[in-house]
Amino acid sequence: MRILLQFPEGLKRHASEYAERLEKQGNEVFLVARSTYGACDLALEEAKAIGAEKIVHFGHNRYIKTSPGIEVEYVPWKIEVDISLLKGFAKMLKEKGVRKIGIATTVQHIHQLNDMKRLFDKNGIKALTKKGKMALEEGQVLGCDASALDVDAETLVIVADGNFHALSAFDIDKKDIYSLNPYNGKWKLLNEELMRFRKQRKGALIAAYGAKSFGILVSTKPGQFRMKIAENAKKELEKRGKRAYVLVSNIIDSSIDNFMFIDAYVNTACPRMVDDKDSYAKPMIDISELKNLLKMWDRKD
Ligand code: SF4
Repeated sequence: MRILLQFPEGLKRHASEYAERLEKQGNEVFLVARSTYGACDLALEEAKAIGAEKIVHFGHNRYIKTSPGIEVEYVPWKIEVDISLLKGFAKMLKEKGVRKIGIATTVQHIHQLNDMKRLFDKNGIKALTKKGKMALEEGQVLGCDASALDVDAETLVIVADGNFHALSAFDIDKKDIYSLNPYNGKWKLLNEELMRFRKQRKGALIAAYGAKSFGILVSTKPGQFRMKIAENAKKELEKRGKRAYVLVSNIIDSSIDNFMFIDAYVNTACPRMVDDKDSYAKPMIDISELKNLLKMWDRKD
């Protein structure tokens, strides 16, 4: 069998052991060389180019709901953490009088979510979980989907290393949102950072308000490809007298700034591209924010 192995950056160092094992079983094995950004980024183009019969995608679980037209095996990478490290955080919440939280974590730690819930329970805190819209597992948060935290609790906890997943909760309006590092038990109250993030989004909207021509960004990555939505956005912009161009690419980077006639971007690809706003010379809004821009123009008329 011709098998294509796909690893995110942090796991590429493990590729040789899997390749050797599969080759010994009589398979022909190929490795995806480029960066892999998430579960949405299945290497279908590469698989087609080399005639692969199967993709093994490491580090994420299933994200794409439609059939990719090729056998795909997902190998989520489980990382075992010492749950007792989270005791200090649970105690701090208890002392603050918190009795109920919403909790979510990333795919690497989702197998220990019940242990985490039990730890909070022992401290008299009920930990609520929910299955998000895009995630496969209950309580799983993605960089583009924090809907697992849409629960009836005013304190939310995202157990993840770094802020990337935690900041996906930027449009959730709750009293306190914490990120909790599962490797060392350190926590961070994110309220101010989330507020800054929201302000940046408003700033981008105001900057795009005066634009006359728009680049609508479409990524061909299977889980990000939103061509129909991009074409509708183009129509809506043109109805309001704007010029709009659909820019299509697998990877979207600052080379789009060379389309100098474009004043602002509407991103239909990974919604977290707006985090990299400083990499682009023009304001960028996410497709989910376009309706607000249209309303702003329509109100003015
Ligand atoms: S769309 Fe972005 S945030 Fe969502 S899985 Fe893909 S890379 Fe991650």
